[in-house]
Amino acid sequence: MARLVMKNLFDSQICVDCDLPCHIGSGRFVNRYPVYNDDVEGWRCGDCAAEVDALLEELQND
Ligand SMILES: [Zn+2]
Repeated sequence: MARLVMKNLFDSQICVDCDLPCHIGSGRFVNRYPVYNDDVEGWRCGDCAAEVDALLEELQND
């Protein structure tokens, strides 16, 4: 089975969602967490994590 090359952003510490750096001291390090998708794995920064949380909350309140 052919497999796409996985993009690994852990080393570069660039957010998988907004492509902005989320290394320590970047302002997005707090609350970042690892993401393992089919085509990419790496960190989701604190800003995007908050956005995802808000979205999930909205869905749950439906
Ligand atoms: Zn982000």
